[in-house]
Amino acid sequence: MSIAENIEKFRQELPEGVELCAISKVKPKEDILEAYETGQRVFGENKIQEMTDKQADLPEDIQWQMVGHVQTNKVKDMAPYVSLIHAVHKMKLLKEINKRAKQNERIIDCLIQVKIADEDSKFGMDADNLDGFFDQVDEKEFKNVRIIGLMGMATLTEDESQIEKEFKSLKEIYDNYSERYSQFSQLSMGMSGDYKIAVNCGSTMVRIGSSIFGPRNYDK
Ligand SMILES: *Cc1c(COP(=O)(O)O)cnc(C)c1O
Repeated sequence: MSIAENIEKFRQELPEGVELCAISKVKPKEDILEAYETGQRVFGENKIQEMTDKQADLPEDIQWQMVGHVQTNKVKDMAPYVSLIHAVHKMKLLKEINKRAKQNERIIDCLIQVKIADEDSKFGMDADNLDGFFDQVDEKEFKNVRIIGLMGMATLTEDESQIEKEFKSLKEIYDNYSERYSQFSQLSMGMSGDYKIAVNCGSTMVRIGSSIFGPRNYDK
């Protein structure tokens, strides 16, 4: 199936209220344009340099979202245009985003990445540390960042009950903080392999790469 057909399939399948973030990392600009022609405007990348190169050449109304692990010293390159940062995992990074957003006279939307997977390789904050983190956020009153929800990645496993357990735990945490923060509106969870489970567990945003654009070839 073509990129356009894949996107159409997701539009029909995803329930109302679940946003589709098309993950275009590694893929060429022509592929992004093909998706754009169908009306898709939300794209996700995981490298700041690559996203910035694409952003410079592609239509201005694309909403570029950073879904990958962010290095603090590269925040300034995306601060002028990034529409959502999915994976904030520490205070130092949030501070830097706030500083760079201020320089650009912007307010940047962020999600806090919570570690739900049973894998050491995955980034994110331990659920146990979230309370302390949010207390600090409240105290510092960052004016140029807005935390609008949480993001998580499940363990890469065939065991669907484990994936479900992890997504459910994140949804529970999300619901808790939603009571404290009225601006909470996004729970980013689910990728090509596990988005159905994520949607059933209450995801509001799925991040789909290979099921739209095909497998990624990293050797090119
Ligand atoms: C690459 C990536 C995705 C998309 O993965 P697919 O399995 O290709 O859908 C989603 N989220 C993050 C954080 C990614 O890095």
